[in-house]
Amino acid sequence: MSDKNVTALIKNLESYCSEHGLRYTPPRYQVLQVIAGSAKPVGAYDIIEDMDKITDKPKPTTVYRAIDFLQQHGFIHKIESMNAFVVCHAGHSHDGSQFIVCDDCGKVEEVHLCHLPADLEHKVNETGFTMMYWNTEIHGRCDACRA
Ligand SMILES: [Zn+2]
Ligand SMILES: [Zn+2]
Repeated sequence: MSDKNVTALIKNLESYCSEHGLRYTPPRYQVLQVIAGSAKPVGAYDIIEDMDKITDKPKPTTVYRAIDFLQQHGFIHKIESMNAFVVCHAGHSHDGSQFIVCDDCGKVEEVHLCHLPADLEHKVNETGFTMMYWNTEIHGRCDACRA
């Protein structure tokens, strides 16, 4: 993500927080800044390391809490198979995403088949289960790596 887009994203977080009466704290925007600044998904450990460059020795628990917050409000998504995080490319008003992961370089594309969440939930309910959360990741090879 370009610096300009990162700045826009941080601004977006700031207005989201003020609209929803949430605290806009340094760890929250710094964690978002670190994840947005990375071309690839970043794990919690790397986030803590990168935070070190922005601020003085962040506490891991503070960073984990900020990650939880950003995930809960849809600013970032967890790529379960990589145990790493990416920024949401669709704002924060969508249910469920699908992720296409390049197994060679780790690039992730977020896609939205908008009918999927409802379809899935319907199927899950038919089995007598209640859906708590779901995650779809498709593994493949990106354009650049295939070339
Ligand atoms: Zn998203
Ligand atoms: Zn690739």
